[in-house]
Amino acid sequence: MDTDRLDAALTAALEEVEPDHSGETSDYLDDVAGRQRDGLAAAVCTVDGHQASAGEAEHAFALQSVSKALTYAVVLEEVGLDAVLEHVGVEPSGEAFNHLSLHDDGRPYNPLINAGAIMAHALVPGKDAQTRAGLLLDRYSAMAGARLEVSEGVRAAESARADRNLGLAHLLADPGVLPIEAREAVDGYLTQCSILVTAPQLAVMGATLAAGGVNPLTGERVLQEWVAEQSLSVMLTCGMYDATGQWVAEVGVPAKSGVSGALLGAVPGAVGIATWSPRLDERGNSMRGIGIFERLSERWDLHVLRHRGALAGLRGAD
Ligand code: GLN
Repeated sequence: MDTDRLDAALTAALEEVEPDHSGETSDYLDDVAGRQRDGLAAAVCTVDGHQASAGEAEHAFALQSVSKALTYAVVLEEVGLDAVLEHVGVEPSGEAFNHLSLHDDGRPYNPLINAGAIMAHALVPGKDAQTRAGLLLDRYSAMAGARLEVSEGVRAAESARADRNLGLAHLLADPGVLPIEAREAVDGYLTQCSILVTAPQLAVMGATLAAGGVNPLTGERVLQEWVAEQSLSVMLTCGMYDATGQWVAEVGVPAKSGVSGALLGAVPGAVGIATWSPRLDERGNSMRGIGIFERLSERWDLHVLRHRGALAGLRGAD
């Protein structure tokens, strides 16, 4: 593969969105040292291990809600589909990310809204918070092919603003469906939100999902194939909060956004894509990140629902 072509496409997309400084940054950044409200980076990693990046590729930012998709994958792998589905559903909520959105039986609608993500975190195996955080860091690092770390600064800024998440966790704990104590579940969830990545590392995580669970750089099978498929399914239907329908219609790539301005996309069988640009639209999605994805989807023909491919599978079937 000609990686110069990948580099050129990324650079062109970045140049086009660069002048847009609209949108606001998330309030937690007010308390984070070294924040760069107008930072911009993008990276890709193909399922056969070709990488390209543009912009501030060295800058590490917090995963924030992108971690929700990654923890969902880890708990599917660790405890299995049935146990996970007993605790959290797979339906888009159509509500904001921090809305309660519970089914009548007390299960959060999906793992990519806060209530569902707190529940998913509570399913991570481990006797205490440290063990659970350690397992997540290990698994995230295996997906990224790099040793990742938690930002204590981000974690402190998030902990100072945890009232709503604590409220959600207590409402989950009240009917007895939250497997661990509410405070511990929120602390753990905010710790995973505070894990730092660069755009190239995040693109490798996306490539691991796109490659059916095998990290294309290290060759390690991090997730079983069905786990990658389940995670990508939920990302496609729920990954952009209450803007997911529009996202699928326009971009058509399973994705997950975070209030740090992170955006992760994975095109099965093709590529992981990551962008970082902290200014957000009113739904909490990165303004320029969306702009880059729109351009790359168009340029590389990435929409996963375009008519192609499946007939070959049918022809091969007996
Ligand atoms: N830490 C944030 C929260 O739960 C993550 C939100 C997000 O990225 N949308 O409040």
